[in-house]
Amino acid sequence: MQDSYGRNIDYVRISVTDKCNLRCRYCMPNGVVWVPMSEILSIEEIVFTVRAMSKIGINKIKITGGEPLVRKGCLNLIKMLKGIPGIDEVTLTTNGVLLEENLPSLIDAGIRAVNISLDTLDREKYKMITGYDHLNKVLSSVEASINSGIFVKLNAVSVNWALVEGNKTNYEDESRVLNEAIKLVEFARSRNICVRFIEMMPIGLGKEYPGIPHSILIPGIMKRYEGMEPDNKKYGNGPAVYYSIPGFMGKIGFISAINDKFCDSCDRVRLTVDGNFKTCLCYDKGVGLKNVLRSDKSDVDKEKNLMELMRQAIIEKPESHCFEDKSMISEKRTMSSIGG
Ligand code: SAM
Ligand code: SF4
Repeated sequence: MQDSYGRNIDYVRISVTDKCNLRCRYCMPNGVVWVPMSEILSIEEIVFTVRAMSKIGINKIKITGGEPLVRKGCLNLIKMLKGIPGIDEVTLTTNGVLLEENLPSLIDAGIRAVNISLDTLDREKYKMITGYDHLNKVLSSVEASINSGIFVKLNAVSVNWALVEGNKTNYEDESRVLNEAIKLVEFARSRNICVRFIEMMPIGLGKEYPGIPHSILIPGIMKRYEGMEPDNKKYGNGPAVYYSIPGFMGKIGFISAINDKFCDSCDRVRLTVDGNFKTCLCYDKGVGLKNVLRSDKSDVDKEKNLMELMRQAIIEKPESHCFEDKSMISEKRTMSSIGG
């Protein structure tokens, strides 16, 4: 359905768990407080909600988290969601640690595309960022996914870790940062994948980490590759802007939520792990669906009620985020419970 600004809302990101097998510093440090089990939507509740969503025009789903593959029943959920009339696409965002072992079942469940989060190709740095020595496992999952024929996008959040480490001048930081990014870009030279850079958003702990503005990253990368130019083809639903580089099999994408505010083409809503229907990442505004799901109304009435609540929320979807003015950001949840 359309919101008040004429945007067609047809895509939902669903956080199926706030738990994770990594501890990315900007997302989920040790000591994080978990959402109580009793607050988390069951697999059946998620399926029921998506059935109602499909009736108000939502037809694309991204399963996310936390790490979706640590949720028991995730594969079954994907299978059930794929079977809902009106749902055209179910894809997954994962850190890749458990991906290779789950790949055959995921393909069997109907997954044809995955986003794999990978911020660096340096083993020590990967350990520093995520708290675990799992880089090789993730790389193996990336290759296995490519070989299995599903479409792979690598997502790297752009953080100036040199500044976090608290050293050096800006100039040195920038060149270090660029060298890191170039290693990821090179990954797309001989692989038919999209390597995408995501600007750090001031949500959860993200506020405390110095992102690398894409106004610096994009020209910096373009300077290194003669003939790199915008590629207007669409690769999936997202707001990424893609570039092609002569001689490269893959594409390079940039999701620049701060430097290139893409709210006027936003097509998405979110379902948080505790059943909140959220229409914008920036605000804690949202409508709780759990009470309806757990009420003793008939299924027909519950579905009607869910559809009404979600329709109203979509009509009230904010025109844009307010990341440029941190004092306006009212969302206090972590990215993992919202569903990044
Ligand atoms: N665990 C899965 C993964 O890492 O892909 C799915 C959930 S994770 C929250 C989804 C994505 O959000 C990851 O690519 C992560 O790097 C990104 N992310 C987390 N916090 C962020 C922030 N503040 N700004 C931008 N991206 C963020
Ligand atoms: Fe886990 Fe993903 Fe958050 Fe990293 S970004 S801690 S992998 S949920």
